[in-house]
Amino acid sequence: MTDQPAQAAIEIRDLTKVYKGGKRALDGINLTIPRGQIYGLLGPNGAGKSTTINILAGLVNKTSGSASIWGFDIDANPRNAKNSIGIVPQEIVFDPFFTPFETLENQAGYYGVPKDRRRSMELLRAVHLEDKANAYARTLSGGMKRRLLVAKAMVHSPPILVLDEPTAGVDVQLRQQLWAYVKELNAMGVTIVLTTHYLEEAEELCDRIGIINHGRVITDKPTRELIAMAQEKVVQVTVDRDIATPPSDPSFEKVELTDERTLTITYMKNRANAGQVLSAVQAGGLAIVDVVTRDPDLEDVFLNLTAAAE
Ligand code: ADP
Ligand code: MG
Repeated sequence: MTDQPAQAAIEIRDLTKVYKGGKRALDGINLTIPRGQIYGLLGPNGAGKSTTINILAGLVNKTSGSASIWGFDIDANPRNAKNSIGIVPQEIVFDPFFTPFETLENQAGYYGVPKDRRRSMELLRAVHLEDKANAYARTLSGGMKRRLLVAKAMVHSPPILVLDEPTAGVDVQLRQQLWAYVKELNAMGVTIVLTTHYLEEAEELCDRIGIINHGRVITDKPTRELIAMAQEKVVQVTVDRDIATPPSDPSFEKVELTDERTLTITYMKNRANAGQVLSAVQAGGLAIVDVVTRDPDLEDVFLNLTAAAE
């Protein structure tokens, strides 16, 4: 990796994929994933996330376009490209007759990692599977298998780790452990790419987020900017008496009676502010006893963007 100019971790240009049978899964994907980040690739089911990742992994052949990994073109330099990336696939596939330890040793052998540089036990410890080192893979739970796949993806110490829907089938506590490990790897300099449909997770973890839909990139921005795009704000107002009919006001986008004394009001932050909304409630003769606001989150942006692209 000496004479490679400092550049993107992953660069994807005009990538298309038409599956046998005619399904156009990717319709010209362009993405630049910076080095050193945690990058989230989001999109509804069938958007083309796994297809993109599987092309990078060399598991699916692209129809046209190009991709490079750590500066290595996947066609011109497939070996270096492959060595630069570790991929945790969405589908769990294992040889059930190997133990986790053997699985990692085999994988290290496949990548030509010399015996004295293998770190199988260290990796098993990192994913909390050291006590399962010698159990058969088929006896592991879904979450354990997922974690073993993460360890397997790291045997050759690639600078990029890609996780395709890593938390599917993983319980909350193990999810936390998995993310702690991912953050640790990132702190050590590993670029992380993950797909997820848990938006809060992406919001919390990712420095940058790309959203794809119908095989196209709809947006690709720093997470903070993306969240700032959300225009809808919600304020929940509790008043001092039962409400017969919810008040209305031009500043309200939507108003709902959550219970007898609570109004949930949505407003657009480019057209109104919380002060106007609260004054409108008071003007209706109601005294406010409590106010709770909810900031727009990624889910709002995601829904708006994917709906707009339909
Ligand atoms: P995502 O991971 O975002 O859910 P995928 O990349 O798995 O989306 O799928 C994108 C589209 O391509 C979907 O419409 C899916 O049904 C289709 N697809 C995926 N794999 C194949 C395949 N092997 N053969 C035909 N169509 C496929
Ligand atoms: Mg997928």
